[in-house]
Amino acid sequence: MTIDGKSIAGDASFGVINPATGQVFAQAPECTRVQLDAALDAASRAFKPWKRDVAARRAALLACAEAVKTRIGELAPILTQEQGKPLARASEELFGTAVWFQYTASLEIPVEVLQDDANARIEVRRRPLGVVGAITPWNFPVLLAAWKIAPALLAGNTMVLKPSPFTPLSTLKLGEILRDALPAGVLNVVSGNDQLGAWITAHPAVRKVSFTGSVATGKKVAAACAPDLKRMTLELGGNDAAIVLPDADPQKVAEKLFWGAFSNSGQICSAIKRLYVHESLEQPLVQALAKIAAATKVGNGLDAGTLLGPLNNKMQFERVNELVEDAKRHGGRCVTGGAPLPGAGYFIPPTLVTGLGEDARLVAEEQFGPALPILPYRDVDEAVERANGTMYGLSGSVWSASPERAAEVAGELECGTAWVNQHLAILPNTPFGGAKWSGIGVENGPWGLLGFTELQTVNIAKTPA
Ligand code: NAD
Repeated sequence: MTIDGKSIAGDASFGVINPATGQVFAQAPECTRVQLDAALDAASRAFKPWKRDVAARRAALLACAEAVKTRIGELAPILTQEQGKPLARASEELFGTAVWFQYTASLEIPVEVLQDDANARIEVRRRPLGVVGAITPWNFPVLLAAWKIAPALLAGNTMVLKPSPFTPLSTLKLGEILRDALPAGVLNVVSGNDQLGAWITAHPAVRKVSFTGSVATGKKVAAACAPDLKRMTLELGGNDAAIVLPDADPQKVAEKLFWGAFSNSGQICSAIKRLYVHESLEQPLVQALAKIAAATKVGNGLDAGTLLGPLNNKMQFERVNELVEDAKRHGGRCVTGGAPLPGAGYFIPPTLVTGLGEDARLVAEEQFGPALPILPYRDVDEAVERANGTMYGLSGSVWSASPERAAEVAGELECGTAWVNQHLAILPNTPFGGAKWSGIGVENGPWGLLGFTELQTVNIAKTPA
């Protein structure tokens, strides 16, 4: 772990499983309560000098970007082994991490001048909050950590970061790599089980919690923040709908829809999780998607040519299998896939399911895996109503020969990001967050940065005291 700029071993450790084999391949340190106190104490002490010099912080973030870029070759195999994603995708995640640091370093922390005349000067400034507790999930452990580290630190905060117990190693390595780029105590990285997350959210030293994970845990985090009125950003689950309008060309949209749903083996918060297609297009679109599914190599992320890796962990693997089995029992037909691959590892091939109603669990719940329900509709208003008929509201997309028409429909979707003729276009400079149960607050861009600050009005009377 990284605590106060030093490498710290745990008193105990836990096994990390490679999901491609189902076997423990490494041990990670289990952070004790005392070690967490030490990490939070280091972050509290580092806050005072760190918050003073924005130019130094900007330079440090650029150094972080450089450090990550030069160590991609070392980090990528660790990420692939603990997460499952193909090596090329792991490298992309790490390159994206460097890009996020670099972009965030360029952001300004605004001071707004509301009035400046003979009577008074009124400024609205942004102050850092203090120590941020950051908690991340297992699907994009390093990139999603960077979404928190870069803006929190630029704004002048310090941090204790805890990755998921399923994918601790790449984040611990990130902490190690960034030690030379940051003053001691500014970024502390600890690992452990879910209890460690609960300790962080309840700890009085933490002034803000930045959490990415499931809705169920997000609600627990919100409750844990309440007694202390901690600030929080919650990036939670999604059940994204893609709506294909009747004028779309199935051959043209199939490839993008497929990867919008199945990238990272469907383990993306904002992946397409329900595909609404006009009934006139259902047959040709299902055929086009099935063709792509058949040509997609599923396997160990370390093997050349693998396009989709395993599910990350046994629990998730069993959950997706259970949702597919439930779909079959409720009239669903698996056009492709439909069963796990034989042998070791948590592999499920891309599974396209037709014939389901809105109340099937695969439609109503977040599957977070490679099983996509395809749902025909008759008129567009009905599709929008069905797309919105959920407490999730992360993102969504509309597909059409007319981008203008699609953009109109996209405006009807109750979600944080609505794409037209694309899905998963997530950029460092655009705000990303969820409506309804999918979250509170946003990450990325100036909006994400401001989430790590609070307003201070400074009202200066011009008459000397
Ligand atoms: P999870 O909620 O099980 O765990 C997320 C993190 O919370 C882990 O680090 C875990 O150890 C920690 N945790 C667990 N219990 C805790 C508690 N009581 N207090 C504090 N921390 C606790 O989620 P997961 O299974 O790791 O990730 C998958 C979920 O994350 C999906 O629902 C996915 O949609 C969501 N997700 C959302 C976004 C987004 O940006 N909106 C991005 C990626 C993933």
